[in-house]
Amino acid sequence: MSKQVDTILTGGTVVTMNEHYDIFTGGAIAIKDDAIVAVGPSEEIASLYEAEETVDCANQVIIPGLVNAHTHIPMTLFRGLNDDLRLDVWLGYLMPLEREFVTPEFVKLGARLACAEMIRSGITAFADMYYFEEAIAEETAAIGMRALLGQTVLVFPAPDAETYEDALVRCRRFIEGWNGHPLIQPAVAPHAWYTGTPEMDRACADLARAYDVPIHTHVSETQLEANNCRQQHHMDVVSWIGSHGLLETKLL
Ligand SMILES: [Zn+2]
Repeated sequence: MSKQVDTILTGGTVVTMNEHYDIFTGGAIAIKDDAIVAVGPSEEIASLYEAEETVDCANQVIIPGLVNAHTHIPMTLFRGLNDDLRLDVWLGYLMPLEREFVTPEFVKLGARLACAEMIRSGITAFADMYYFEEAIAEETAAIGMRALLGQTVLVFPAPDAETYEDALVRCRRFIEGWNGHPLIQPAVAPHAWYTGTPEMDRACADLARAYDVPIHTHVSETQLEANNCRQQHHMDVVSWIGSHGLLETKLL
């Protein structure tokens, strides 16, 4: 007897990420509630399952959701401002703009736009780092995407915190509010070595370890940054942040 499912996607080329990386030409997927219950050749799925809705996927490829591994999603609203500049010069323009305009409403609006664009591109999960991350979490969870969301910590005054100590308080509150959520993984996000201090890095590492959450940070984004770290600290960026305990965390 056939088992009842909600939806069957059938007749497409199904690319799996199972342990054999199977690809089924003329394959099908059976879905019930929010889970894939079976993947295989179309005839096999048709013989085992009955669905309320069957979608013909002929000439289509069905792939697992893509993961965007590094984002600042509300910055979609800054798109086009000062393009094509060196990162350090660009940040000189962007950081004052962020302090002026970034609010919980701003990040929610930007997050909504970014999530719509990501979904359109086949992305179902992303790793973010920004300000007012709790507002981004609310928006992301309501949309139904999965995300690792890092609350930014840096030594300069930020849109949501005057000091890094304030940022750490926000970050702890964010972790406590969202840890264990089925879609959202909260994280600590020390922005970069050059916007932090050894004390700040250590405090971030301590917080991440205390709640067993990941760290999301920038490491060696540019040649200039890598050179500066060697000049100032006589070691590469990975060694420098490692000397503050960041490598002993779940680091992204
Ligand atoms: Zn970044």
